[in-house]
Amino acid sequence: MRYLKPHYYDRFVCSADKCPDTCCAGWQIVIDEESLEKYAAVNGAFGSRLKNSIDWEEGVFCQYDRRCSFLNEQNLCDLIQELGPDSLCDTCRMYPRHVEEYDGLRELSLSLSCPTAAEMILGCQEKVIFEESFTDEEDDFEDFDFLMFSQLEDARDVIFHILQNRSTDLRIRMASVCALADKFQDCIDHQTSFEIDTILARYEEANAGNLLPNLIKNSDHTFVQILCGDDDLLPSVSARQKISSYHWHLESIALLEHLERLRPEWNIILANTRSLLYAKGEDAYLKICHDFQTACGYDSPLREQWECIGEQLMMFFVYTYFCGSVYDDMVSTKMGLALFSTLWIQEFCMYRWLDQGHSLSFSDITEIAWRFAREVEHSDNNLDMLETWMEENF
Ligand code: SF4
Repeated sequence: MRYLKPHYYDRFVCSADKCPDTCCAGWQIVIDEESLEKYAAVNGAFGSRLKNSIDWEEGVFCQYDRRCSFLNEQNLCDLIQELGPDSLCDTCRMYPRHVEEYDGLRELSLSLSCPTAAEMILGCQEKVIFEESFTDEEDDFEDFDFLMFSQLEDARDVIFHILQNRSTDLRIRMASVCALADKFQDCIDHQTSFEIDTILARYEEANAGNLLPNLIKNSDHTFVQILCGDDDLLPSVSARQKISSYHWHLESIALLEHLERLRPEWNIILANTRSLLYAKGEDAYLKICHDFQTACGYDSPLREQWECIGEQLMMFFVYTYFCGSVYDDMVSTKMGLALFSTLWIQEFCMYRWLDQGHSLSFSDITEIAWRFAREVEHSDNNLDMLETWMEENF
């Protein structure tokens, strides 16, 4: 078995009672069979508490006021305190560690939804490296498309090179990987997978020569236009009939408002973003964007830091989602999820900056990121709705 993990993966340590939130509230914690059996065999007073605090039919911990019934007032786990860390079920033991499974490969990552992990992911100044290791374990996957998977891995390597090319504006990098994924999708749809290597070589070469704008300047893809159409980055995109960033955000916040939600705080963020950013019309919105970019975004002295955080977000989402398209052929949609998530985390940061009287700290950015991940990424229903929306709209 081959394992892959980001270089910071092993440094994760849970902040426990110092955590600004907790992972034991707001969502259902599913208990594996083995742990259920272990809990059923515990005797005495704590055994009775276990019997009464688990929904045995659903196999989940009961919640009180949306908190796990074993989470005490100090935000520590009574199960660990009574029975030790080995008593945790798989979900609690693993979180925020996440595994994507492919034939012969396990890709490990930390979930952005954990505040401590989000701080590590977004605070990483250096380019993320994925470390490889091997074990003797074997897999018995059926019907795994090895050819497509190896092309996806090759494409993802090129995408990583582009995203980490810090001599190019991040918006151009994001637009380029969007265009690359789109070309990959065309090859699948038209059964011309034999062309993928040539396409990847073209993007690799353009990236090495800092010529990526040449590959995207005529693109009418929504994300390319949103990323590069509102300024002088790509004049030929601007000259075309542009998709307005304002209207795209209005349309997509309506989608976010329709998704399943975990926490009341998220309702407030959505409602305030709508009223502060969009209620006064497009010109007012563009002025806010301009002021924000000049204060702490692409046109500011903090540009390097802003781009570094955007790069780490894109690297995180591409690493997590992109190769999963081996199971559903939806390459373009997986890239769409990465772009959508990064753009919306940046948009919520702009809302936070405005709401706080033109101030935005690193901890504001990480908070927006982990809240977004909790609300959007951790619900299969939400991810399905997003993928369907993207399929229908792009
Ligand atoms: S969210 Fe992360 S840091 Fe907070 S308690 Fe859970 S694992 Fe620990």
